[in-house]
Amino acid sequence: MTPNATEDTSGFADLGLRPELLRAISGLGYEEPTPIQREAIPPLLEGRDLLGQAATGTGKTAAFALPILQRMPAGRAAGAPLALVLVPTRELAVQVSEAVHRYGRDLGTRVLPIYGGQPIGRQLRELQRGVDVVVATPGRALDHIGRKTLQLDSLLIVVLDEADEMLDMGFAEDIDAILQETPGERQTVLFSATMPPRISSIARQHLKDPVRIQIERETAAPGEAPRVRQSAYLVPRAYKPTALGRVLDVEAPEAAIVFCRTREEVDQLTETMNGRGYRAEALHGGMGQEQRDRVMARLRSGTADLLVATDVAARGLDIEQLTHVVNYNVPSAPESYVHRIGRVGRAGREGVAITLAEPREHRMLKTIERVTKSRITVEKVPTVADLRARRLELTRSALEESILEDDLEHFRVVVDTLADEFDLVEIAMAAVKLAHEASGAAADEEEIPDVPLRAEREGRQGGEGRVRREAGGRDERRGRAPSGGMTRIFIGAGRSAGIRPQDLVGAIANESRLSGRDIGAIEIADRFSLVEVPDYATEEVIAALRQTTIKGRKVTVRRERFEAR
Ligand code: AMP
Repeated sequence: MTPNATEDTSGFADLGLRPELLRAISGLGYEEPTPIQREAIPPLLEGRDLLGQAATGTGKTAAFALPILQRMPAGRAAGAPLALVLVPTRELAVQVSEAVHRYGRDLGTRVLPIYGGQPIGRQLRELQRGVDVVVATPGRALDHIGRKTLQLDSLLIVVLDEADEMLDMGFAEDIDAILQETPGERQTVLFSATMPPRISSIARQHLKDPVRIQIERETAAPGEAPRVRQSAYLVPRAYKPTALGRVLDVEAPEAAIVFCRTREEVDQLTETMNGRGYRAEALHGGMGQEQRDRVMARLRSGTADLLVATDVAARGLDIEQLTHVVNYNVPSAPESYVHRIGRVGRAGREGVAITLAEPREHRMLKTIERVTKSRITVEKVPTVADLRARRLELTRSALEESILEDDLEHFRVVVDTLADEFDLVEIAMAAVKLAHEASGAAADEEEIPDVPLRAEREGRQGGEGRVRREAGGRDERRGRAPSGGMTRIFIGAGRSAGIRPQDLVGAIANESRLSGRDIGAIEIADRFSLVEVPDYATEEVIAALRQTTIKGRKVTVRRERFEAR
């Protein structure tokens, strides 16, 4: 029996969400709410304000997007926005808009991302045409408010997403200014990965008797801790399938389970891994019992060596042969991590848990480490060279085994005849080459970009870790070498063009992989600005800033020509 869509999302239905949203969620292959969703959605639907501590990867976007959509009147005529979500970067503005759009599919909700760097004209036209939800970076939102093109008087709900990141980027005043313009009776939601005092003070000022949710409070399942070697790899999303293949090649698990978030992800990844020569089987809640039994039988008999599954589908499974648990994404809560890795490392054997995290999810890894009181070592994804070496090593051991165990007499005649003409070592090398190629070592030549750890990046900034930024000139720094591991970039616009530090941080974080914390000292002079960025990202930042606009204008961007005095 295949469960129907309503049963599939019963976890969500229990939360009191409207049918259009339940259909959308089921269509996306979500099988159950994540802990943050379970805790945040009911009070938000009641109209309460909320202060949530949750990092990327916990499912926090749906936790506020679904309640926003719940409040959208059916068949609403185009008008001023009813919801405003403030986010630190363009990347997030686009991501959140896409999520709202997907969840609001059946409601016909109009959502518009607005962020710096994008021509303002298109945003103006869309705003004039009328939208329901605006997802904006603070700087650009303020621009539109100043131009009176973004009307805030109809707002029912305001969300500050990744508030700590916005503060790090210097947007505190902008946020205050924006909130001043919104109706007093609005519902306010604040999500932040960390809760420094500055966030608490914003919450005190702008939130009314908020419900507090802290995902970290989840405690690990009691009982004997399994013996598990835990490691993680930081991998940009586009490289995840390649990275998974490579890690599996090096680890060579007997049997592994790979956890995905949604049914779609399970199906896609199973197909990709099969295409890469693994024997992978999918397991998710959309499959009937018979189908599941068949999959399990194939895994138990060794006909399959990789099980790709959602949490729900894998619940209660006990697979004796399992040696590796792979989290294809960071789990949505520490508790879920503990459940997953508990599937290996039983009965005194050592198991292996591997987590692939996107760079943005690094913080969630730290949370899991803290809550589970276990160490997750972040390792480098094997390079193409590592992989080649590993494959040669496998060929070497196969040959060694053959020398020791096989009857090779049969082949002596080939060697003898070739030896009349060639050196024995040369003959051996040709034979090794053929054996190596015949082992089916798949060609995987794609280099995966190395993502430095935040801690490493901070180390390069002289351990400061925080953005140092000044609105005023700091001319004594000019002519001095930038901090260790940092390069200073010249930007041909300064105070007289209305440039503020947060505009530069915003532009850089929008256009490159750096976040606010990665950016070093900033100096703003009248006609130009100087920004320190980590060496490894210099070219990327320069290229990106040349493509974009800062405060609506194209500017000169180059490495600062530094002359030691
Ligand atoms: P977020 O923490 O909001 O960035 O979400 C992380 C990822 O989890 C996104 O790719 C979402 O599409 C996905 N996601 C959110 N909620 C669920 C859920 N209940 N089940 C499965 N995936 C989810």
